[in-house]
Amino acid sequence: MKALPKRAFIVALAGSLAGQPVFAESQPDDADHSETTVVMLGTGTPVLKHDRAGQAILVVVDKEMYLFDAGPGSVRHFDALSGKDFMPEDIYFSNDSVYGEMNKVFITHLDSDHVLGLPELMLRPWIMGRSEPLKVIGPQGLEDMTVNILEAYRDDIDHRLHGTQPANELGFTVEVTEIGDTQVVHQDDKVTVTAFKVPHGSWSDGMAFGYRVETPGKTVVISGDTRHDEALYEHFEGADILIHEVMSETGVSQLPQDWQDYMYHAHTSTRQLAEIGRKIAPELLVMTHPLLFGQTDEQLRDEMAGYYDGNFVLASDLDIYE
Ligand SMILES: [Zn+2]
Repeated sequence: MKALPKRAFIVALAGSLAGQPVFAESQPDDADHSETTVVMLGTGTPVLKHDRAGQAILVVVDKEMYLFDAGPGSVRHFDALSGKDFMPEDIYFSNDSVYGEMNKVFITHLDSDHVLGLPELMLRPWIMGRSEPLKVIGPQGLEDMTVNILEAYRDDIDHRLHGTQPANELGFTVEVTEIGDTQVVHQDDKVTVTAFKVPHGSWSDGMAFGYRVETPGKTVVISGDTRHDEALYEHFEGADILIHEVMSETGVSQLPQDWQDYMYHAHTSTRQLAEIGRKIAPELLVMTHPLLFGQTDEQLRDEMAGYYDGNFVLASDLDIYE
């Protein structure tokens, strides 16, 4: 459990919790000198919503960026972060810029609502300054996907490399690490990222992941898309911020039985998420990827409040937790 907890603020800077501080526990020592910020770059699902980009969660630790998923429309949301204190300097055409530093992404699984923004993440920051390969970490199939994306955009890459536009030769390339099991996938002097297997619909074992991000100040856990499974609790344990997918229990109960069966095989309802919240007791439980089935955001929040009395929010795009 959390040793020697120190009180610190998690403040949602935008969205439903605006201005309302909630307490979080953080670790001592480096925590005082280290800053961890979570930005919900995209909170959507396969259902089209103009105000929800596809799944993408950015964790920034002392200006180093760790991106989780690259859903459609999420990359352009980086622009809204220009000038924020916790972000790298906003200088175009530089490897030190916000764009240049978009250099690694951890993918939960290959459903398109989580990866349709991958071509943009591979190519646009290169044009804006990234001069090193993009590291892409996630399930098997990513190697093929990225090779085929580069093939699809071959003419664009070719004219930028060999035309009159100044361009570097590495920024569009990728370094793919495919994983098939629970493991540490990244470690640097401050941050450890562990991928853990999650059960999601008919994806086979080892093809869908959540991520646990441990920083000097916080533990942030991202569920990815998953059904409720108590075996996951060991990976959620100790989370200061637990970011979890959710579906409306009221909404799903109105679907035909075969669809209900499918949804519970793939996703987690409010009632189940409340159970997780009570067990794990995160300082902040963030609901994302809301599957509503006709319910409104407000109804989903009310439904959750009926099951859970801990701190929770329904994430909106560009919500910031720190
Ligand atoms: Zn999804």
